[in-house]
Amino acid sequence: MDFSIPEELLEFRDSVREFARKEVRPSVEERDLNEVWDPAIWNKMGEMGLLGLPFPEEYGGQGADCLTTTIATEAFAEGSTDGGLTLAWGAHSIIGSMPIVLCGTEDQKRRYIPRLATGEWTAGLGLTEPGSGSDAAGSMRTTAVKKGDRYILNGSKMFITNGPIGDVFTVMAVTDKSKGAMGVSVFIVQKDFPGFKVGKKLRKMGMRTSTTSELIFEDLEVPEENLISKENSGFLRVGRATLEWERTVLVASGIGFMQFMLDEAVEYASKREQFGEPIIRFHAIQDKIAKARIKLDASRLLVYASAAKKDQGIPAPIESSIAKVYATEAAVETGYDMGQIFGGYCYIHEYPVERAYRDSRLGTLGGGTSEVMRSIIAANLSA
Ligand SMILES: Cc1cc2nc3c(=O)[nH]c(=O)nc-3n(C[C@H](O)[C@H](O)[C@H](O)COP(=O)(O)OP(=O)(O)OC[C@H]3O[C@@H](n4cnc5c(N)ncnc54)[C@H](O)[C@@H]3O)c2cc1C
Repeated sequence: MDFSIPEELLEFRDSVREFARKEVRPSVEERDLNEVWDPAIWNKMGEMGLLGLPFPEEYGGQGADCLTTTIATEAFAEGSTDGGLTLAWGAHSIIGSMPIVLCGTEDQKRRYIPRLATGEWTAGLGLTEPGSGSDAAGSMRTTAVKKGDRYILNGSKMFITNGPIGDVFTVMAVTDKSKGAMGVSVFIVQKDFPGFKVGKKLRKMGMRTSTTSELIFEDLEVPEENLISKENSGFLRVGRATLEWERTVLVASGIGFMQFMLDEAVEYASKREQFGEPIIRFHAIQDKIAKARIKLDASRLLVYASAAKKDQGIPAPIESSIAKVYATEAAVETGYDMGQIFGGYCYIHEYPVERAYRDSRLGTLGGGTSEVMRSIIAANLSA
């Protein structure tokens, strides 16, 4: 057991945080308020190698492991204070692309991964539907029927990050209804396939610098060579392979927010005076600061440990559920407490703690809600 982070990784973390501070943070307030997606920043992320960070080098990626990608995501969120862009990045490089990287054929990897690595193409995941979220597999309505050398998909997907701007989506659809959740398959869908439509852009409480929409499939034609893995292996194989990537890397943005909010609150509380002294001298303020630091350290340990297990090839579905529920709830609680330290200013857009609080709210909902994470943990204990 070694809790130290190698020097090389610390240097990389610092370079990502610096990049985000310099290139992303200056415009985040305006982009958040006006819900602007910025392709220029996305291209710079591609040039820096971030968009293909966890992809193998032979397909144009950086070959980063899960822990490195997790730490880079945390640093990006902290430096940029841009939850939306961090989410778009995770949707692209983790949930949208890793199914191809981990379970795709050689031909699929060669056709898609190099262009996704540079950002020439942007990816997303189409799993959730208007009528199915937590019970994504069991209640799925989107179907895929084989006709000749193609699959014909009908249905729709809801809340899809990168939906309005994405080029390639990994989409789940029912191929064998009689098998329930085990009858779902995964397909690589391009926006230019006949029958693909993007629904209206959804306006959100937070993560407003990312784009979200419904995707609609009306007799969508997908060539058979775009089936990932085998028919009906969507959850058993593809979902399982990407699970811990999602529950570590995407969660890491909340850790970056926590660090940022804590640092800002300590600085503010040291300068802000009431009743003739800095508010940091008041026990109630110290209590919030200490609790935020405790939650931050605990979240880091849980998420890093889960990522390290992934890299060691040790399955960690329970540990990653624990890490997800703890770290995402800690980020929301920290947002509330650190905001409280700013008094009325925490309600004003100009203070980034306001945005960080709104952005972190998604963590307990997306990629499996806190309630679902707890039911997975409890079910495993009682099995
Ligand atoms: C901004 C945003 C971006 C998103 N991006 C994507 C994306 O890129 N791709 C994608 O596929 N999806 C995406 N999602 C969807 C997200 O993963 C779902 O919203 C989430 O899984 C919850 O599903 P639901 O909204 O249908 O809620 P429901 O499943 O309807 O849940 C409603 C409530 O019931 C509770 N509940 C449900 N089942 C149980 C249970 N068994 N035990 C206890 N409580 C339960 C839930 O915890 C919740 O409190 C995104 C969502 C948002 C808001």
